[in-house]
Amino acid sequence: MQTSTRLLRPVICLLLPLASVLPAAAKAPSLADFQALAAKSNSALTLPVYPVTPAEIKALAEDTIKKANAELDKIAAQDPAKLTFASTFGANDAVGLWTSTAFTVVGTIAESAVSKDMRDMANEMNVVLDSWSVSLDYREDLYRVLKAFADTKPALDPEQQRLVDHTMRGYRRAGLALPAAERKEVERLRKDLGALETQFAVNINGARAPLDFTAAELAGMPQSFLDSPGVKQPDGRYRVMANITWHAQTIGENADNADVRRKVLTTRYNLARDKNTPVLTKLVVLRADIAHRLGYANWADYRVETRMAKTGATALKFEEDLVTGLQPKFAAELETLRQLKATQTGKLDAQLELSDVAYYTNKLKKEKYAVDTEALRVYFPYQQTLEGMFAIYQKIFGLKFTAVEPPYVWAPGVQLYVVQDSATGAPMGAFYLDMFPRDGKFNHFACFPQKIGGVMPDGRYDLPVAALMCNFPVPSADKPSLLKHADVETLFHEFGHVMHGMLSRSRYYTLSGSTVPRDFVEAPSQMLENWVWDKAVLDTFAADYRDHTKKIPAATIDSLVAARQATEGYFSRRQLAIGLLDLSLHTLSADAAWQADIVQLVNDTTTRVSMAPPADTFWAAYIGHLAGYDAGYYGYLWAKVMSVDMASVFSASPGGFLDEKVGRRLRDEVYGVGNTREVADSVEKFLGRPRSMQPFLEYVGIKK
Ligand SMILES: [Zn+2]
Repeated sequence: MQTSTRLLRPVICLLLPLASVLPAAAKAPSLADFQALAAKSNSALTLPVYPVTPAEIKALAEDTIKKANAELDKIAAQDPAKLTFASTFGANDAVGLWTSTAFTVVGTIAESAVSKDMRDMANEMNVVLDSWSVSLDYREDLYRVLKAFADTKPALDPEQQRLVDHTMRGYRRAGLALPAAERKEVERLRKDLGALETQFAVNINGARAPLDFTAAELAGMPQSFLDSPGVKQPDGRYRVMANITWHAQTIGENADNADVRRKVLTTRYNLARDKNTPVLTKLVVLRADIAHRLGYANWADYRVETRMAKTGATALKFEEDLVTGLQPKFAAELETLRQLKATQTGKLDAQLELSDVAYYTNKLKKEKYAVDTEALRVYFPYQQTLEGMFAIYQKIFGLKFTAVEPPYVWAPGVQLYVVQDSATGAPMGAFYLDMFPRDGKFNHFACFPQKIGGVMPDGRYDLPVAALMCNFPVPSADKPSLLKHADVETLFHEFGHVMHGMLSRSRYYTLSGSTVPRDFVEAPSQMLENWVWDKAVLDTFAADYRDHTKKIPAATIDSLVAARQATEGYFSRRQLAIGLLDLSLHTLSADAAWQADIVQLVNDTTTRVSMAPPADTFWAAYIGHLAGYDAGYYGYLWAKVMSVDMASVFSASPGGFLDEKVGRRLRDEVYGVGNTREVADSVEKFLGRPRSMQPFLEYVGIKK
């Protein structure tokens, strides 16, 4: 165990006899029982208080800001001669810990409240809280006091030192280390940058491209598309909106007419081009300029500094190595698709175009790897799947989940569970489940932290609380809720984020589990997706709900894997094309950015890494990630490659994906330490070896 948990370890040891404190099976334990148990282990299991009226939401946001400002004022007003770690960085972090609960509660209400008035007020307060939190970066009085203490070079333990370093890095990145005039200039440029980024997004959202086709031209398209609202026009033709992703995808996958596919793709690749080419050009120049003023060689170095990759060059090398590693699979996949085209068109030397890829991929999947995903639903009734996943996570991470009666829920049907360490009985945290859709609720699947864990000023550990929000199919009168295989994968992924929150044991809010770098945060959850592709795992819970003796046949799972692998090389190279065009724009020096021909740069990179875009197009103008996730797109594959690397440790262990020893190591070395040390170290401690790209290459189907 590392330093971060050393502080807490004695506490955990003291807990050994406490499991017996809970009343025996006769009566289901209540939240109060667990709270009493937590108190005995020097921790607090406290649920956030949820406002129940719009006025209470407003009061929560305003009181939080008022109280936090008062506490920050106190920190800033200290006698510079009497500063201590606790009175400076410790106190500053503690404000972050309790104010973050107001942020998460308001954010949760905005996404989940039954009443629209509640959601509207929460959205309004979200904006207020966000802008207040941004303003904290520019509190010079606070900065000066923190810097004064940091400059004394105090002797600190590694976790405290990391808190100091991260806090000071944040100020430096905001420009506070610059002389006043230069800082003002950076602030001004950042405002311009924000406005330009908004403009870029607005231009994307506003782009419209209707294309009308006759029924004959749309041969191959599903009837459900032709019958969709707004598609059939009064003149009998059918309108395809090239800017609506599912329209363009349905054409790409199904339209038999190659000219139609090409026309829709070319139109899509020119969306927002006129407006956004100049905006992106300015963005690239401005970002390079800001990075230069803050002391970085380029914008990628600035952006990547806080991530696991650390520098633009490291991210770039990772992507280029993957381009090379994937080449054999990528080339083979394209050749398979080209042969399908040659057969269909009767031209032996047919060339594959970008607008052919989705079409022949769809054909390949239908003809060669047909898996009826709808039929698989019978194996995944909701409750059975949830309990199956719980059993797996409890086993591998050494935990126990118990449902308790929640004192308050934001909507009917929301459930509350307490998490305990299964060996000691010590409560670790609590999570809510809000699993089915309703009007006005967040419409994807995600983990919403409700409370971050951390040590409170009185020394007790404030236990974390999370909420899992999902939208599974609602049960009907004659059938339970039946999940798709993809839903089960999502459930395993999202619950991984819940685990990350529950198991983090950092002392400081700033270094807790979910604050790990953005190019890492998805990796453990992506790793857990692998569980639902493994027969041994699936057999522990997946069974036909009408006849529990029926498990998923091995051949079906093999077909699922083969179908996934069939185009994984192409898909990854496509991701690399976006990642690399993003990095190519953002590794330019300030001088080079002025002279760069960004259209040429983007199109050359795309052609080299993926496939040539249609002539005279500029698809980067319509890639929304370039404003907001700029110099960050590489992170998707970075995390994915690492997730497969991590999963390979489980699959190679005696217990496979159910191995408790490996699970425990993940809990201790990755989840538990959160961001209290370099994530790269945590990952290697878990792997027991340096990171490797090889498991990922095998995952996409490249044999060693
Ligand atoms: Zn995720």
